[in-house]
Amino acid sequence: MKDLLVMKFGGTSMGSAERMRVAAAIIAAESRRRPVLVVVSAMSKVTDQLLDTLRHAEAGDETGMEAGLRKLRDRHLDTCRELLPAGGQEQAMTAIEALLADFQRIVQGVRMLGERPPRSVDEAVAAGERLSALLMAAFLETLGVRAEAVNAARVVVTDAVFGNASPLLGRTRERARERLAPLLETGVLPVVTGFNGATADGRPTTLGRGGSDFSASILASVLDASELWIWTDVDGIMTADPRLAPDAVVLEELTYSEAAELAYNGAKVLHPRTLAPLVEKRIPVWSKNSFAPEKPGTRIVPRVSGPAGPRAVTSLAHVALVSLEPVSPEISATQLVARALDSLARAHVELLLLSSSSYRQNFCFLVRKEELGTALSALESGLALELAHGYVRPVEVDEDVGLLAVVGEGMRGTPGLAGRIFTAISRERINIIAIAQGSSELTIAIVVHRGGLEKAVQAVHAECRLGELARRPGAG
Ligand code: ADP
Ligand code: ASP
Ligand code: MG
Repeated sequence: MKDLLVMKFGGTSMGSAERMRVAAAIIAAESRRRPVLVVVSAMSKVTDQLLDTLRHAEAGDETGMEAGLRKLRDRHLDTCRELLPAGGQEQAMTAIEALLADFQRIVQGVRMLGERPPRSVDEAVAAGERLSALLMAAFLETLGVRAEAVNAARVVVTDAVFGNASPLLGRTRERARERLAPLLETGVLPVVTGFNGATADGRPTTLGRGGSDFSASILASVLDASELWIWTDVDGIMTADPRLAPDAVVLEELTYSEAAELAYNGAKVLHPRTLAPLVEKRIPVWSKNSFAPEKPGTRIVPRVSGPAGPRAVTSLAHVALVSLEPVSPEISATQLVARALDSLARAHVELLLLSSSSYRQNFCFLVRKEELGTALSALESGLALELAHGYVRPVEVDEDVGLLAVVGEGMRGTPGLAGRIFTAISRERINIIAIAQGSSELTIAIVVHRGGLEKAVQAVHAECRLGELARRPGAG
């Protein structure tokens, strides 16, 4: 759609009546200039509370379950009272109660079953976004902006991988044309729930934690938006996580590839899959701070000018390194790698890094801790014979590690950079355990001892002078 602006507001930007008012003012101002579609996250911490409530239910802990339900109800009803004028509250409150009753019904089911089927969890956790969309749409109406809350389960069509679904863009485009375009064309602003979708036959799914960014990029792509603005609680994408490196500064511009690498390697500011739907259509993205809307934020574009080199450093703490080593000529390292990767792929385990040594033919890979159990069972069954015959050493796992990644287009053009990064880490007496550099040379990934991860981030940030180099003269 011509000139369409898609804006996504994250959990902190939707975190209270006051924050919703600020977000609504931004939305109202933009909607006077061009068509706008809004994607919202649940209010901050609500998704965690929904999941906790389901866990209490699974464990049969009635007290925890009731407390969780009460907290959710109080938070949303209080926000409703604070946000909406007295006359407009009743209808919104009835809708809130209805959504919470749906959630409670699933919670009761989980308690009776004593387990949390992934399908039910996905249906249940979408309540957070449905509640916040409802409040935002109702408040926009009071500002004179015609708005309608839309459940993305009716628009975003996904596969059936519950908890981490992938969109089917063709089907989603059709649904968006049927359900969102008519609203936009008649001047109604859709407030769409982030995070959730549904299979083509209507089973509710979610796109993974932090997935509302991805929801917004999916909708921007299928509706041919002219821009996507992602509103969060920091001034943009920074040279490092500001919680780890206090001297981190905001980057003016990044390429899609750089932003995707950063997100993939732990920069929580963007969901890792956000950029993929936008690349082909070259839809520009802005990461902006709803607490300081006047600041320019970071622009993510296909290409940037200016010198190549490292742009930012990021890290992932909850990871584990798994090592495998053949000990018999019965199996070559290539066969071992092939069998191991095949088993991991079948189990849908995502490898964050892969590294091998040619002499001992040892190879290791990094996975998220949540996926470690699945990875190990996949290896145990996939390599059952080799392990039983002793052709392969018992699988080794190191959970006391962290991943650090330095990202920048064309770091290849910076001689000696890898050496400087390794020296900076070693100077802090931090053990480097494994290293990988993709052939694109966009990222140098380093596994270090977990205890040294934060210090390593700071050391690399300082060594590469990322805080000083963030502003690229001539970029634009
Ligand atoms: P939202 O709820 O708006 O989606 P998130 O909490 O998911 O916000 O992401 C924003 C947070 O990401 C920031 O508060 C910041 O602590 C963290 N973060 C991690 N790495 C970076 C980075 N390189 N630049 C900016 N923020 C980062
Ligand atoms: N509310 C979801 C979460 O907390 C999605 C999001 O905020 O992006 O993971
Ligand atoms: Mg987020």
